[in-house]
Amino acid sequence: MVRDVPIGESLGLVVKGWRSTDEGLFLRVQGHQEEVRLVSRCGRCHWIVREQYRAEGPKLVVTCHGCNEQMTYALEGSGAAAR
Ligand SMILES: [Zn+2]
Repeated sequence: MVRDVPIGESLGLVVKGWRSTDEGLFLRVQGHQEEVRLVSRCGRCHWIVREQYRAEGPKLVVTCHGCNEQMTYALEGSGAAAR
């Protein structure tokens, strides 16, 4: 089962891969066997995802389609999961 993670509990996740689907945004994160699904404060699971390459390391920036909630995570590896 995929675990739903509220945005408020997602601080500090290290993202190893991600995929965006009709059911929402799924993240592979360090320390978890299963994918987690990111849930916004507004209850939606759909996010605009951008990978940013910064001096301190790559980041994954997610923005909620519904309420514009935004969060940034450390990104490890090459980012986007194989489709
Ligand atoms: Zn939202």
